[in-house]
Amino acid sequence: MAREAETHADIPFGPEDTPWQKTFSGLRVVGGRPYGTPPSSDPREAYIAVPEVPHHKVQLPPTGLDANQYTEAEALFRSHIDTQTRNFAGYQVTSALDYEGRLGHYLNRHLNNVGDPYQSGSYTLNSKVLERAVLDYFASLWHAKWPHDPKDPESYWGYVLTMGSSEGNLYGLWNARDYLSGRPLRADPRQPGRETAAGQTPRGAGAHAFHPVAFFSEDTHYSLTKAVRALDIDTFHALGSTRYPDDNPLAPGTPWPRQVPSTEHGAIDVEQLAVLVRFFASRGHPILVSLNHGSTFKGAYDDVEAVARTVRGICAQYGLDSRRVRGESGGPEERSGFWVHVDGALGAGYTPYLEMARDVGMVQQAPPAFDFRLPDVHSLTMSGHKWMGTPWACGVFMTRTGLQMAPPGASEYIGAADTTFAGSRNGFSALLMWDYLARHSYDDLVRLAARCDDLAAYTHARLLALQEQLGRDLWVARSPQSLTVRFRQPRADIVRRYSLSGETVHADGAARAYVHLYAMRHLTRQRVDELIGELRQPGAFPRSP
Ligand SMILES: *Cc1c(COP(=O)(O)O)cnc(C)c1O
Repeated sequence: MAREAETHADIPFGPEDTPWQKTFSGLRVVGGRPYGTPPSSDPREAYIAVPEVPHHKVQLPPTGLDANQYTEAEALFRSHIDTQTRNFAGYQVTSALDYEGRLGHYLNRHLNNVGDPYQSGSYTLNSKVLERAVLDYFASLWHAKWPHDPKDPESYWGYVLTMGSSEGNLYGLWNARDYLSGRPLRADPRQPGRETAAGQTPRGAGAHAFHPVAFFSEDTHYSLTKAVRALDIDTFHALGSTRYPDDNPLAPGTPWPRQVPSTEHGAIDVEQLAVLVRFFASRGHPILVSLNHGSTFKGAYDDVEAVARTVRGICAQYGLDSRRVRGESGGPEERSGFWVHVDGALGAGYTPYLEMARDVGMVQQAPPAFDFRLPDVHSLTMSGHKWMGTPWACGVFMTRTGLQMAPPGASEYIGAADTTFAGSRNGFSALLMWDYLARHSYDDLVRLAARCDDLAAYTHARLLALQEQLGRDLWVARSPQSLTVRFRQPRADIVRRYSLSGETVHADGAARAYVHLYAMRHLTRQRVDELIGELRQPGAFPRSP
């Protein structure tokens, strides 16, 4: 072991290619042996290379970098990121940011919104006062009842996420699982219990009454698959294929689909969803549906209103629309036997403004309502870095106060209820969102939304024209009112230059490699024209094997 370590200690390390064991300053070498483990192989060969930022320039020796080394390394990284920022077109995040001048100050301030946003506690270095303003803003935008009032079950409750919508989805499904499993709610702290009212056969009771089943479409973000796994929630696929392997109601005798089928444009197929929901509701399972308001790849909007109406209707037939849940202590309590979560990572931040633009005739159409106007929307999430634009992942989760699950444990230490997913929460994100919303009026954002919608239409038209000109099917498509246009995957260097994200889409019985582009507000017609120019060159679309 020791001999092997000595050999590897010679590996060249850091900007000057110093043998690793020579990169230590005197205090860290005791008895001729440096502190820590030497590399077991050359990290420069172990990791993928970023040609613009050679790995040895940024490696971190125990001495740190000297001033010249630091300047050179940081300049390489900066130039790389600035170039990629200029052309960034493949993801639904805004890269035109403008916070540095005003908010640089706070990089030297510690802001931690640990615990519930509405309780300040003893941890005073927080931005909860701004967080509450941001949450109220979104509560109003999404037609919830506000301000938050712990005594009013119809008022909203929410918090600013430390991750993006992945955390919002995880939290929403966690809340849904506990709600549908009959666990205590925050407003009604009881002993954990799974009994229903005694002495009668309550509606919605039965062997599976507290065993929820999750449904989401094949166009759903991968964070949902991860959330159901982390939370140990059964999907209809998991339950169907283990308990009812031969009974797939969509096509008896064939395997259960993993997710609910979508229509061509990526929205959940409401009729097929209804068949699947009925299968499990009729067997007494509570129903958990997660919908997309702006699906990741196609930008599709599920018809939230139609789904909520359909699910409620089916649940009503099996006593799952409203049922009584009671624990060992405390009175019986009415709860629905279904939950509708809306994943609005991009869409929930954007389409309210598009709707306002439509109402004043600036655009033709906007997607239908997805928010708390619909009484059966239980929870909603949005990413802050997508439409609004922040330098790191963040977002908002929102539900109704009366639906909140009881937080798991005591949190006297921080002086605020532990109602959020993380412990320490990033207080900078609330500041960024507050800053952005303070400096952009509804009117500003309505104009921006209309401009992005127009740019998506322009990009779509240009790609259709290119397809015509090349005489080759580039599979160009734009789902209604989405900010994304998808097309055949071009050559790898073009994909990288514009950071175009790719996905295999199954269409007409074939697996097709697509990419998409997002018309976010930093993108311009000029940049789109440049991309089209590159796509027009011979060899831009390699022949499929
Ligand atoms: C981006 C996205 C997510 C995940 O959001 P993060 O902010 O990356 O965690 C979830 N759902 C949809 C539809 C998305 O587009």
